[in-house]
Amino acid sequence: MAFGEIIGQETVIQHLQNALRTGSVSHAYILSGGRGSGRKMLAQSFAAALLCQDPAVGEDGTYEACGKCLSCLQAQSGNHPDILTLEREKAGSIGVGEIRRLRADMQIVPYSSEHKIYIVPDAERMTQQAQNALLKTLEEPPSYGVLLLLADGVTAFLPTVLSRCITLQLRPVSAQAIEQLLTSRYDTPPEKARMCARFAGGLPGKAIRLSESEEFAAVRDRTVGLLRRIEQADAHEIAESARESAAGGETDNVLDFTDSWFRDILVYKSTGDEGRLIFPEEIQYIKDAADMLSYGSLQRVARARETAGRRLKANVNTELVLEMLFLQIRQACAADRRRTRNRTNG
Ligand SMILES: [Zn+2]
Repeated sequence: MAFGEIIGQETVIQHLQNALRTGSVSHAYILSGGRGSGRKMLAQSFAAALLCQDPAVGEDGTYEACGKCLSCLQAQSGNHPDILTLEREKAGSIGVGEIRRLRADMQIVPYSSEHKIYIVPDAERMTQQAQNALLKTLEEPPSYGVLLLLADGVTAFLPTVLSRCITLQLRPVSAQAIEQLLTSRYDTPPEKARMCARFAGGLPGKAIRLSESEEFAAVRDRTVGLLRRIEQADAHEIAESARESAAGGETDNVLDFTDSWFRDILVYKSTGDEGRLIFPEEIQYIKDAADMLSYGSLQRVARARETAGRRLKANVNTELVLEMLFLQIRQACAADRRRTRNRTNG
């Protein structure tokens, strides 16, 4: 865990290193970014550097934990007595009980360091009550206390909480940088690295997860295979594809692939730019679909996709949602195919 190992996020890293160097560390930070953006690595690198007994300070302003002292070894093993992570009681929200325990814990002075760091994952899931309970700690933090709230955005926070935290916004990382990370540090084969990087939406952690998932490549082939010729697919084939994806717990990936597929068609249709495609290897099919599909049909597909998202949130059976989505896509595409054919023939 070192700032130097994190790709992208230069602004956030500079801010944190500056605080470390000048000794002006705040009592509460919100690290805001999507899952897989590197929030946790940033928090861990910051915590290790803050507690390190012999930090390396570079002339260029870098500030890193040494990686060798007792504190660093404890931080690396996840057993540092002064770096704590909030454990959730249940999967959904973070309730007032958990925050009260955090507050009580915060009152106990650090065990072996000058600071005591509390990392709160999924902090956006704090209930209003929980946030109000946290507010007391934010208003009168113990001198040694540092809170690191990891969140996927700031909209869920009360203004009173936000105003007492320093919010650091993580940015999407370029696909090239992610691709290089996968090939150089994770030994991912180049072609797979390119696909995972393009597909990760700027989230390095997501790219790593995808590259390690055996299902991912299979789901890609299944979904793209169906989308290439969706207007000719029969109801049985669509139902079978939906069943396999739902049974494998791959609904999110199927939807991501579907979104990327139609995004590519729209991008190509409106710009003709092959360089911006997520699936450049599918250019023949993308081109064909871009020629065939009208903007109206693409809009119908987008609406069907929105409906699918709403149904999933409402806990409708995932297999059924996927099946209905693909049937609606087929309908939109088949209508345009007929029109194109009539135009050509007539
Ligand atoms: Zn150290």
